[in-house]
Amino acid sequence: MNGLMMDYPLTIDTVMRRAETFFGGKEIVTRMPDKSFHRYNYRACMARAKKLAVALQKLGIKPGDAVGTLCWNHYRHFEAYFAIPVFGAVLHTLNLRLHAEDLIYIANDADDKAVIVDESLLPLLETFRGHIGAKDFIVITSSGKAPAGMHDYETLLSQANEADFEYLAFDENTAAATCYTSGTTGKPKGVLYSHRSMVLHSLAASLGDVLDVREADCVLPVVPMFHANAWGLPYAAAMAGPKLVFPGPHLDAASLLEDFEQEGVTVTAGVPTIWLGLLQTLDKDPKKYNVSKLRKLVVGGSAVPKSMIQSFQERHGLSILQAWGMTELSPLGTIAGLPSDLAHASADEQYEYRAKQGRPAPLVEIRSRGDNGLVPWDGQSMGELEVRGPWIASAYFNRPDAADRFTDDGWFKTGDIVTIDAIGCVKIQDRSKDLVKSGGEWISSVDLENLLMGHPDIAEAAVIAVPHPRWDERPLACVVRKAGSTVTAADLKAYLEPLVAKFWIPDGFEFIDEVPKTSVGKFKKMELRERFANYTFNS
Ligand code: AMP
Repeated sequence: MNGLMMDYPLTIDTVMRRAETFFGGKEIVTRMPDKSFHRYNYRACMARAKKLAVALQKLGIKPGDAVGTLCWNHYRHFEAYFAIPVFGAVLHTLNLRLHAEDLIYIANDADDKAVIVDESLLPLLETFRGHIGAKDFIVITSSGKAPAGMHDYETLLSQANEADFEYLAFDENTAAATCYTSGTTGKPKGVLYSHRSMVLHSLAASLGDVLDVREADCVLPVVPMFHANAWGLPYAAAMAGPKLVFPGPHLDAASLLEDFEQEGVTVTAGVPTIWLGLLQTLDKDPKKYNVSKLRKLVVGGSAVPKSMIQSFQERHGLSILQAWGMTELSPLGTIAGLPSDLAHASADEQYEYRAKQGRPAPLVEIRSRGDNGLVPWDGQSMGELEVRGPWIASAYFNRPDAADRFTDDGWFKTGDIVTIDAIGCVKIQDRSKDLVKSGGEWISSVDLENLLMGHPDIAEAAVIAVPHPRWDERPLACVVRKAGSTVTAADLKAYLEPLVAKFWIPDGFEFIDEVPKTSVGKFKKMELRERFANYTFNS
């Protein structure tokens, strides 16, 4: 017997209506390219989103068509987040840090029919515009004048009539947005989110034990809107109704700290490299910025060193919440909020817990598989993390060759090697390709990196596996010293000795100027592996 509940479609228009109806007067602030602040509210924003939807349809965009965006985090990008999916088209956020070759592949794979682009990114667009199928280019200009053959965003909006907008009814499983994985090997793979998955993800993201986004908050997503929809924060915000602040292209520590102080930001989110820079600025002059309203820094995308959590907390009273996720997971998977059982544990135990990736969000299920089947949740046994849930990809777009990333019984294989403990807390040991296999034993490069980055003289550290005639592979630490430091390999070995098993201690330490980063700010170990491919250890 079926229940007698409404079959109410989970589509993005419900979020739009909620934002304009209940939070219409709440402010949306953007740091503009010239550093001035643009201010309006959710009501004005949704009215403009409707006009954009009308304008796109007038250009011939139809339900099912993809529309690319090549934009920083700002209010017009936020308008596109709603305008495109609300009539059944597909929002395709293009990563502005990719090379032209990848952008060509991605825009053509998604079959983008139009692209909305920031004026400052026109030079980037020109590197690939001639190689993609899109016909219409809509430029967000400051002058109101787009280059010949392109449309000006504001002019298009001024010619569209909000009264022509109509909320359509469609199936909640309709595609709403797409993002491509920033994979370091092979071609990027498209993940196609549905209205249903995005609505459920927004709901879960807002929960107290997930990202805890509330109406009274002020949210500033540092994470780019082209990186897994800024981790779903813009949609979660429209659902919960906080004040929203977009940093525009100004992602340097000083600009962000000014935004935090001036706008009273309470919740922010980004990858560890952003926060490492911020920490150094705060350390230099702890009294310069008043960031006392910040109650949560959500950090994910790469492992968060325990030392970083501790430094923010103890030196600046700022609380880091680590989350683990993937583009394929919309992206939220697990969150490391402290369980109440640990409320009275020692500070060190609490930091230990918060440096893990945490437990899954509601509706996300986890398991871990080793060579001999599922591995026990004992906090020791390593295996590949598999996940399933309503906002997790069931396949990649157009990629039957990648079907092996999904199990026969409907789970997604993450490629992350983890341990899971008795309470279901996940600890990422490595990406499967980054683990160091030494004499048949695994060494976690992530653990070594986090320990090294806890050394007071080290700014960044990346550990890679280097072939070794006797042990198969041995770890090589590529280390960036802090300015003025003369720390040596011997010092670092001595520092690690009491912290890890003897065989984990890297055989080599290379002092480098910077760890190369991916387009979303993660360590690009592939480049280090290539650079040190012929490395030989001295001993
Ligand atoms: P992306 O799809 O680009 O967001 O990359 C997803 C990958 O980033 C995951 O498979 C992990 O390897 C890594 N990752 C994300 N969050 C974390 C985290 N909190 N700790 C460690 N690795 C992470």
